[in-house]
This record gives sequence, C-alpha cells and structure tokens, in this order.
Amino acid sequence: MKNNRIGFKLGLVIITVFLIVLLFLGFAIDRLFANFYYAGMRKETEDLTSHFTVMANSMDSISEQAMKTFAEFSDVSIFNILKNGEVILHSGVHDSSDRSFIRASDLYKIFSGEKVSLLYEDPAGIRYFVSGQPILDGGEITSALYVMSSTEQMEQSLAGVRNLLMLSGMGAFLLALGITWIIAQILSRPLLQLQSATRKIAHGELETRLEIKSKDEIGTLAEAINNLAIDLQRYRDTRQEFFANISHELRTPITYLEGYSKVVKDQLYETEEEKDRYLDIIYQEAVRLQHLVDDLFDLAKMEEGRISLVPDWIDLSELVEQAVMKVELKAKEKSLKLNFHPSGTASLVQADGKRVEQIVLNLLENAIRYTERGGIDVYLRFESVSVTLIVEDTGIGIPADELPFIFERFYRVEKSRSRQYGGTGLGLSIVKKLVELHNGYIQVSSTIGAGTRFEIHFVLQPETGEEST
Ligand code: ADP
Repeated sequence: MKNNRIGFKLGLVIITVFLIVLLFLGFAIDRLFANFYYAGMRKETEDLTSHFTVMANSMDSISEQAMKTFAEFSDVSIFNILKNGEVILHSGVHDSSDRSFIRASDLYKIFSGEKVSLLYEDPAGIRYFVSGQPILDGGEITSALYVMSSTEQMEQSLAGVRNLLMLSGMGAFLLALGITWIIAQILSRPLLQLQSATRKIAHGELETRLEIKSKDEIGTLAEAINNLAIDLQRYRDTRQEFFANISHELRTPITYLEGYSKVVKDQLYETEEEKDRYLDIIYQEAVRLQHLVDDLFDLAKMEEGRISLVPDWIDLSELVEQAVMKVELKAKEKSLKLNFHPSGTASLVQADGKRVEQIVLNLLENAIRYTERGGIDVYLRFESVSVTLIVEDTGIGIPADELPFIFERFYRVEKSRSRQYGGTGLGLSIVKKLVELHNGYIQVSSTIGAGTRFEIHFVLQPETGEEST
C-alpha cells in the first residue's frame, strides 16, 4: 500500500460510499419488512378480535366454550372485562393475573364504542399485539374483549429476513471490496506510471516515455509528459552541441590572437609591413569575436523568448534602401553591382525597424561575402496582402543537399567556408528567427556556381494594409 497510496485512497472512498449506501439500503429493507409484518399481524389480531366479539354477543355457556376452544386453536389469549375491571372470561397461555396491559384510558375508549390496539411486553419479556373491542348486547356495551396475540412467530420470521439481509449484505460487501480493489488498481496504475516517469525525468533519464494510450485526461497528461521529455532531451542535446560549437568557434580566433600577438610582442617579424599585417589579423579576429559574441547574445535571447519586438510604423522601402547603401562600399571593394528594385505602392508596415534592418543587412552581407563576380539584386514587392523581400546574388551557391540545414546554428556549407569568408555561422539562424517573430517565413533556392536567392514573405493585414508583427 505504501507505493500505492492513491489506490488505497481511491479504494477507501469507493468502499465508504458503498458501505453508506449498503447500510441505508439494509435499514430501509428491514423497516419495510418489519412494517409489513406488523401491519399484517395487527390486522389479523383485529380481525380475530372482531370474530370473538361476534361470538361473545350470544354469551351462553356454549359460545363461551367455543370462544375458549377457538382461542386455544388460534394460539391467542382472551380477556373479557366488565366496566369495573372484573374479568368474566379468560383463556390462553397468558397469565390471567398480569393485567397491566389494561389501561383505564383504553377501557374508557372501548366502553365509548371505540377499538384499541397496542403493543405490549409482559414481565417475562414476551411481546404481544393486543386488540380490544366492545361487546354489545342489545345495543348496550356490556364488556370489553381483549385479544392478545404473541409476536414471537412474527419476530422469528423477521429475524430470518434480517439474517438473510445480513448475509446478502456481507456478500455484497465482499464483492464490492473485490471490485473496488480492481477499480482502484485500474485507476491508480496509470497515475503510478506517471509518477515514476516524472521522477525518472526529474533525475535526468530523459529517454523515459509513457505507454498510456487512453484518450482521457490521464492519456493527455501522459502525452504532455512525453512531449516535455522530448523537449528536455532536445534542449539538453542542443545545449551540449551549442556549447561544443561555441568553444570551437572561440578557440580558433583566440588561437590566432594568441599566436600573432606573441609574434608581435617577441618582435618575430622582419619588416614593418609584416608587423602591420599581423596587427591587421589581430584586429580582424577581435572584430570576428565581437560579432560572434553579439550573435550569440541575440540568439540566446531569441531562444529563451526574451527578445521582444518594438513594432512601429516603418517605411520598408526606405529601410531596405538605406541597408543597401550601408553595404555599398563592401560591394564596391569586390567590384560587385548592387541594385535595389522596389515595386508596388504601399510602403508603410508595422514592424521592428532595427530587427528588420538586421535581417536585410545579414542577407546582404552574406550575398557580398559569398559572391566573387556579378552582383546582387534586391527586390521589394508590395502586393495586396503581402510583402516580399528578395536578395539574389550571382555567387558561389549552396549545394542542394545542404540547403535544408543552412538555417541551423553554426551550420556551414564546407566547414572552412565561413572562416575563410569571415562569417560566424549564426547569421541565417538569427534571420530566420527574426522573420518568424514578425510572423513571416523565409525560403531559399540556390544553384552551385550560379547564385543564391533568399525570399522573405510577410503577411499584411488586409483591412489596413499593414504588416502583421
Ligand atoms: P555565416 O555567418 O557563416 O555566413 P550564416 O548562418 O549566415 O553563417 O550562413 C550559413 C552558411 O550558409 C554559410 O556558412 C554559407 O556557407 C552559406 N551561405 C549563406 N548565405 C549564402 C549565400 N548568399 N551564398 C552562398 N552561401 C551562403
């Protein structure tokens, strides 16, 4: 029972309710039978008394004898009493000296023409039904006739019924005990499974799964616990992977910083140009570290749901144009053409300007980073219910089998690629998260050696022509 307290409690509640019902039912049945027997006996005694009074009407020695015989035969005692209390006829087993059942008030009633009936227990403890009726002689009440009928037989029958009731009650109770035990087991088993599974999950056994398939509340709870375990498992795995990636990402620039600063510190260079080159590498690596830390910070905030947008009415066309202008210099350095093609009439949308700029700049910087010749085209199309932003380049492209993964944290096409180009491997996952925070979605298509195209769709609210955020 120690491990199945819930089953015990359930069983206790069920059996208590059952016992209460059983007791009430038993009591009701007992009362029903008792009343039935008492009413039957009362009627019988009264009928018998009426019969005797008819016989007593012709009070001669023959009918007196007949009454005695009839009383003996019917197993009753009779008392014929005058108004002054004198007994003029007695027959039957009941002691004629015990007349305490004769009450003055009853006698008065009988001599007034009424009938009385009462339950009487004699000094020996024997109970009787007593019925008293007037005896008439020529319209005059001459005496009162009492008939006493012992309830012993009736009580024996009643005891029989009670025994039967007790027996069937005991049987029903035992049966209920068995059924309760089974029900308590059935009801408590899944709860115990839930308890043990949650304990295991709390102790870190995240592979634990519940096999409860029922469609009720327990089933739903089990499903929720399974989902929780899956989420925790994924969280643990990604966290481990995340930390492994972070340490890997940090180690490389730190190694560079350490190595080149030592070279400069120990003056292991031959010319001033060489020293400048090393210092430049140190600077580049410091900048990269700064980017990495910023990106990580953003991503961590987004994953924890701590990042909140500050939506405002922004001119999207103007924002994209300014972002294009910001990266123009970088494009020029690589002799890349950079063109912006806005179309459609609307331009104002409700969004977080800083975050939307971050999205556009990330895509533009990637496009410039991974493009060696040709150029980048940026399209902004306002349609009736949506706005589409496209950043298309003529760069090195992404292999088709790698496309599904490029939005994952630290994912890089060819592991050395972004080190060579200076990326952190976090840009696109941040872009995707920011787009989703704006209720939009991002798609990518690419051809190796021909270029890559990123498409972002935001839904505009039809009635106001505003972007949903
Ligand atoms: P990174 O900061 O390394 O560029 P991202 O998350 O922005 O990281 O991109 C993930 C990977 O996707 C990059 O390492 C790069 O290989 C690839 N990629 C992203 N944008 C482009 C692009 N415009 N053209 C070719 N490859 C791209």
